[in-house]
Amino acid sequence: MHPDLEMMIVLQGFDLEVRRLTEEMAELPKRMARLAAQHEEAKRQLRSVTEDLAKEEVLRRRQELDIKDHQQKAARLRKQMDVVTTTAQASALEHEITFAEGEITRLEDAELESMERTEQLEAAKLTAEETVANLAQEHAAESARAAEALERDRALLAEVHAKRNELRPQIGESSLSTYDRVAKSRGTALAEGVDQKCSACQMMVRPQRWNDLRERSNDEAMFTCETCGRLLYWDPARDAPQKKPVKNESIAASIVRAL
Ligand SMILES: [Zn+2]
Repeated sequence: MHPDLEMMIVLQGFDLEVRRLTEEMAELPKRMARLAAQHEEAKRQLRSVTEDLAKEEVLRRRQELDIKDHQQKAARLRKQMDVVTTTAQASALEHEITFAEGEITRLEDAELESMERTEQLEAAKLTAEETVANLAQEHAAESARAAEALERDRALLAEVHAKRNELRPQIGESSLSTYDRVAKSRGTALAEGVDQKCSACQMMVRPQRWNDLRERSNDEAMFTCETCGRLLYWDPARDAPQKKPVKNESIAASIVRAL
């Protein structure tokens, strides 16, 4: 294999790690913001259900006062019944008593309905309190985890950057400029050839080219995928399971792991 290619396989490992770490570090604050928003929403729901409960209490106090008013009025009217002298007066009083009693029944029914609503709201409040407590706990635990992860990622990133900066000057200028150009447009510059295909774009490599890649994989030649333009490399261990035990990881992965 071309020595530049070997180093670029390692470089790509570093670059992918830089990308992964950078994405992870960008994702962490977003995740925290989502959790904070969930927590705020749960608190808002708890406030709303608490307010509704208070409104029901106010409503019932009002209803009880109104009931008392109508009861007092009905009692007063009944006393007046004792002293009425005409049928017309009696009938007017009776009419008023019936109205007051009707109002009492209506208000008592409304009070019962309010009590039912309160029961439901109290259950909802318990659930909301539980949700708020759980989210508060989750939020705190996740914040601590995120802070830890961020610190770890920052250290790792600095480490990978240092290794990367050390490796790059060792690679030939023209190889490196090809690497940078393809990596910029394709995301990755190198692809392993597996089963006569480019493992990045999945397109077939023409038989002659495939043979050249395999035969000359130890010399100075470099091959690009004709479809995506990535530099191809070939790992003999992958395609010759009869001769060598198949490794589960690619050359690049094993080099990166060994570092
Ligand atoms: Zn390709």
